[in-house]
Amino acid sequence: MSQETPSKAFARREAAFRKRWFPAAAAADWADWRWQLRHRARTAAEFARVLPLSPRERRALAAPASWRMPLAATPYALSLLAAEAPDGPLRRTLIPDVREARVGKGELRDPLGEAAHAVAPGLIRSYPHKALLLATADCACFCRYCTRARTAGKSTCDKTRTDPDDAQALAWLRRTPEIRDVLVSGGDPLTLGDARLEKLLKSLRAIPHIELIRIGTKIPAVLPQRVTPALARMLKQHRPLWMSLHFTHPSELTPRAAAACARLLDAGIPLMNQTVLLRGINDDLDTMRRLNEGLLKIGVKPYYLHQGDLAAGTAHLRSTVAKGREILRGLCGLTTGYAIPLFMFDRPGGGGKVPLGPGGTRNQRK
Ligand SMILES: *Cc1c(COP(=O)(O)O)cnc(C)c1O
Repeated sequence: MSQETPSKAFARREAAFRKRWFPAAAAADWADWRWQLRHRARTAAEFARVLPLSPRERRALAAPASWRMPLAATPYALSLLAAEAPDGPLRRTLIPDVREARVGKGELRDPLGEAAHAVAPGLIRSYPHKALLLATADCACFCRYCTRARTAGKSTCDKTRTDPDDAQALAWLRRTPEIRDVLVSGGDPLTLGDARLEKLLKSLRAIPHIELIRIGTKIPAVLPQRVTPALARMLKQHRPLWMSLHFTHPSELTPRAAAACARLLDAGIPLMNQTVLLRGINDDLDTMRRLNEGLLKIGVKPYYLHQGDLAAGTAHLRSTVAKGREILRGLCGLTTGYAIPLFMFDRPGGGGKVPLGPGGTRNQRK
């Protein structure tokens, strides 16, 4: 019997999932990011339709009043959840839990005090020389541990940005020469179309004191189809451009995700990864080692490991600083230095990020 390669096995499983649960979709539909966005699961019934659920998952999906934010998963992401057992690690990142309704001690709806640090609609300044531009409130999938659950998917209040919002943010940036670094995030800016994104990048690039433009996105992990040749060509025009990706578990490092990263790297865009330390999902040495080594293999540098911030309703997903430090001590000497991220904590109220590690020497002499 001939041996099936891992990427052939992935393609076979993915096609089987598509044919079973989205029988009207051709392979070309599945490969089309707009089809993926249009066919996102947004209701409990749509999740339950394709996933055999555990009692815990079923209870939470039946109690929408307990959700801290809306539901969303692309068919592609659902195919990854379907490959796991009920209660599996990726499932915990996208399927709610009834504990989301509990607000723990010290938890806040706006844990980083972003409302207080907004200098224009969707433009946040917590540091003297860098600004965070929230280009949209929408994401391909909604991570249950989101810092910005209060705005995720909303088109009112902090709203999905409009061109007039962009104009106000850009006007503030033009008259604030201290800002040399702009991080375009959201929501997920790569859920925007190429034209809107290009307009924003061109406007930022035209501001002479902005030296560095970065994009923060989870797209390669949850909707890798979005990274089309046209998008890569467009982004290439606006270099120097860096990207912070958001892979949280080695199961997200699929051949499709690797291809999306390769396309961005070919366009000359350096790729970094930010991950959140999540209880029962990635807060063990073996998972973190496989995640970070896997990222290096597809050309992505592990940048930050975040201690979960004090977002309301996330206590059940938050790991501990002690656990994070133990994992970092374990990684030192066990793996390539490139595979070791900085362990960071974003201070409540918007005081900025502080490093919590690496530190310690446990494996260094091995
Ligand atoms: C994290 C963050 C940045 C970027 O921080 P780096 O540590 O430079 O990656 C910028 N602005 C805000 C508000 C942030 O939270």
